[in-house]
Amino acid sequence: MQEEIESVMAAVRKHHALFENALPLIASENITSNTVRILLASDLSHRYAEGEVGNRFYQGCEYIDEIEEHAINYAKELFEAEHVNVKPTSGVNANIAALFALTSPGDKIMALSVHDGGHISHSRYSVPSIRDLKLKNLPFEPQEMNIDVDKMVKEIKEYKPKLILLGGSLFLFPHPILEAREAADEVNARIVYDASHVLGLIAGKKFQDPLREGADVVTSSTHKTFPGPQGAIIVCRNSLREEIDKAVFPGTVSNHHLHHVAGLAVTLVEMKHFGAEYAAQILSNAKALAQSLYDEKFDVLCEHKGFTESHQIAVDVRGYGGGDSVAMKLEKANIIINKNMLPFDKSPEEPSGIRLGVQELTRIGMKESEMREIAAFIKRVVIGGEDENRVKKEVIELRKGFQHVQYCFDGEDAYKFPAAFSF
Ligand SMILES: *Cc1c(COP(=O)(O)O)cnc(C)c1O
Repeated sequence: MQEEIESVMAAVRKHHALFENALPLIASENITSNTVRILLASDLSHRYAEGEVGNRFYQGCEYIDEIEEHAINYAKELFEAEHVNVKPTSGVNANIAALFALTSPGDKIMALSVHDGGHISHSRYSVPSIRDLKLKNLPFEPQEMNIDVDKMVKEIKEYKPKLILLGGSLFLFPHPILEAREAADEVNARIVYDASHVLGLIAGKKFQDPLREGADVVTSSTHKTFPGPQGAIIVCRNSLREEIDKAVFPGTVSNHHLHHVAGLAVTLVEMKHFGAEYAAQILSNAKALAQSLYDEKFDVLCEHKGFTESHQIAVDVRGYGGGDSVAMKLEKANIIINKNMLPFDKSPEEPSGIRLGVQELTRIGMKESEMREIAAFIKRVVIGGEDENRVKKEVIELRKGFQHVQYCFDGEDAYKFPAAFSF
């Protein structure tokens, strides 16, 4: 093989080997079933299908129409939604489309700030600036790691935003949609709920139900707790259908990623069958990991509230050198996590915390007892200062028993380089 190509292939093979032997705890990642992996490499990845099902700008879309229609219908059923758009190619793309549809330049909106858990696309660095919106941050109660409900209601009535953006990236507890809805109705505001992190829990009916609680629109990526291919969906009421669809195509997407739409359709079916069981195990694993870390003397946030009601836990690691240094030490032991800002942090340069998500470990079959083992590994590296290589050997040993994707119909050798394409 060409040397230059071989060097790319070698790096990909090494990447596979790393994740086969590591503990992936990044809260925004997951792993797909083998059927989905095959679809991602299918001919669909070469094609264009601008337009809507049954009304395309390109020929050759007969079966693409069938696939997209399946994805839309399965999503409508799973989320009990009137309308679904499966075209946005990422969560940020979905947020851009939703704000394009529902706001005009100069409008006022409210969203969480990044250090309180809001996503970067909710901040002035991103979508609100693209649309020239006036952004006010939602009030946050750090002790509770949630929006301050009384202040929020008061501020919505005073500020009179056109749109309220709920949901976030550090997202431990359900957001107060019902209360926001009441206040929003008084000032005629729309509510967009960004479910990117928690869509898999919503699919399993183990988190809040944003559409029933009062969100007008739900935007979401499809690859965090929802274990599908990278991409996004927008879910809304029929009354907003036209605005949302136009804002996606031709507004902010030209060609959507058809191979990802096929993968999404399959993942929706997997979640229909296994979602409830999968989501319940995620919650139980998150609580078990949080409790074990707390027992090991880590400062896990929100002990008084049972630590978490999602897949995530947040730990204040200022006492151990801060988020950056802890994340790098753990990486040497093949424990993959990320540093994270906490509400009292002023600068994104020195985050005080780490964020852990258990959705991928759950997807490969780990349960509460493995969470306790993992907490002990983390303690040995971070508090005990033990040689990371020694812990890494035990991590690799533990991982040997967890190489298949669960909660799907076919998930053998989940981290192997796909056999059909190996060289
Ligand atoms: C991850 C995330 C996004 C962005 O999703 P991408 O698919 O990476 O573009 C948007 N919103 C929230 C709340 C997120 O956590």
